[in-house]
Amino acid sequence: MEKITGRDSLNQILDGIMAGKAAGFDPIKINMVAMRGINDGEIDAMAEFCIEHGFILRLIEAMPMGATGQDTGFLDLGPIRTRLTQKFGLKPQAAELGGGPARYLSTEDGRASIGFITPMSQHFCATCNRVRLSVDGTLYLCLGQEEKFEFRPLLRDGASDAELEAAIRTAIELKPQKHEFREQPTKIVRFMSQTGG
Ligand code: SF4
Repeated sequence: MEKITGRDSLNQILDGIMAGKAAGFDPIKINMVAMRGINDGEIDAMAEFCIEHGFILRLIEAMPMGATGQDTGFLDLGPIRTRLTQKFGLKPQAAELGGGPARYLSTEDGRASIGFITPMSQHFCATCNRVRLSVDGTLYLCLGQEEKFEFRPLLRDGASDAELEAAIRTAIELKPQKHEFREQPTKIVRFMSQTGG
């Protein structure tokens, strides 16, 4: 954990998750970027933990964000989905969950779910409805492309609601068709934390 996050805070994080559960937060979603050779040996344990506590686990394929050309540990989640399905007797989720890119399977009793987010092995850009607004007023139109729109100057200059609406419409028109993580793995120099997940 320390190697991935830069700090040794596992117990604090587990305490926080359990405090959330005790306080009645539901659902609780836990994201795990599955990385070959780094944490792929912990995926089953994470699934067991989430199933035991009735949480939603979302497994995510590593993307080359903040790319420097080094191996990001991309791991195709397809075979892992097959293995976890058999191991935990998972079924396709009866109802749509979340409205996001994850494809969910759930346990027989429906208490826990595992979602698979597969931007690399099966990209879902054709149905993407996501844009991300950063704290400095930059609207990023795609995780995997550089298109962005700066709202800070408009906001600082006291733009009206109509002007902001027009700007949002202009920005949305900039939304790229898809990422090029495979074709150009060193293209995006922003780290994921700069854009937001
Ligand atoms: S890479 Fe861009 S278009 Fe594709 S799903 Fe992510 S944000 Fe949407």
